[in-house]
Amino acid sequence: MPSKKAIKNLRRQAAREQGWRCFYCQLPMWDTAPEEFIERYEISSGLAKRFRCTAEHVEARCDSGKDVAPNIVAACLFCNATRHKAKHPLEATRHMSVVRSRLAKGRWHPPQVVAALGKRRTPPI
Ligand SMILES: [Zn+2]
Repeated sequence: MPSKKAIKNLRRQAAREQGWRCFYCQLPMWDTAPEEFIERYEISSGLAKRFRCTAEHVEARCDSGKDVAPNIVAACLFCNATRHKAKHPLEATRHMSVVRSRLAKGRWHPPQVVAALGKRRTPPI
């Protein structure tokens, strides 16, 4: 069983490779400083919570997905949690299609938040 620290490092490595954008929705994420994120994008703390960077297992742990770099991507808390709400999580690529299509219809993150986060390309927080 890898340590929490190992997972954290894998998450950060993946996030860096993804430019600190969610694997699914492509919106920016924060890692340790929600306050800066809130200030930068002028969104509420409640809404900022969903953009916390989390480690996402491409092959879900319940399908014996491993805690190794090729199986870990960085996803915002909302996209990650939503995938795993299902009794059996969708494959990552299918979940990505669902997220992207709903996002395009304004039915994933609140559209005003998507607009706020999309305004500026920014370095990670
Ligand atoms: Zn996301």
